[in-house]
Amino acid sequence: MGVFDDLIKIDENGNVSYAGWVEWKHIPMGLTHCPICLVLDKCWFNNILKPQLPQHEKCHCIVNNISKPKPNINSYAKCDLKKITDYIFSDKYAWNGKRDLFERLGFTIKDSQYLKEEYESQAVKNYCNSNYKLGKLDMQGQRITIDIKFFKNGRYIVLTSGWMVRPKGEITNNTPLAG
Ligand SMILES: [Zn+2]
Ligand SMILES: [Zn+2]
Repeated sequence: MGVFDDLIKIDENGNVSYAGWVEWKHIPMGLTHCPICLVLDKCWFNNILKPQLPQHEKCHCIVNNISKPKPNINSYAKCDLKKITDYIFSDKYAWNGKRDLFERLGFTIKDSQYLKEEYESQAVKNYCNSNYKLGKLDMQGQRITIDIKFFKNGRYIVLTSGWMVRPKGEITNNTPLAG
């Protein structure tokens, strides 16, 4: 693996693209501060998986090249334990069938800490490997979705989780089960 493996990406059709990482930089011009550009300031994206630039007419934002983020060195995923205990395993949301899904895999509410750590560990690795999809962008920020995989008791499932991109390599969990 050399330096260029990080920068050049070739897909299954042989298309080559620049896949370096960038940090969004909001450059305020005049008196107006755009809340969407402001919330993107200092956020890290793969250059081919970033919000549209320029965002709009008279957007002065730029991106600066950075090195690929490293999981748990300069990039972190944070999932509030409550996202597991109060969402996946809560009676309130039992109707959505997600608790059922986890219970059939052999997980109970006692596994919440494990699940939280597993979500964080898989999410930050996928994010740093550019295995994420861009979701909705608004004044709250840029949402991304990341696949989380579980293999337990002979069963294998892939769950799509929703995250918010925060400045300087951080992502925070919005929902353990998006869509
Ligand atoms: Zn803007
Ligand atoms: Zn802008």
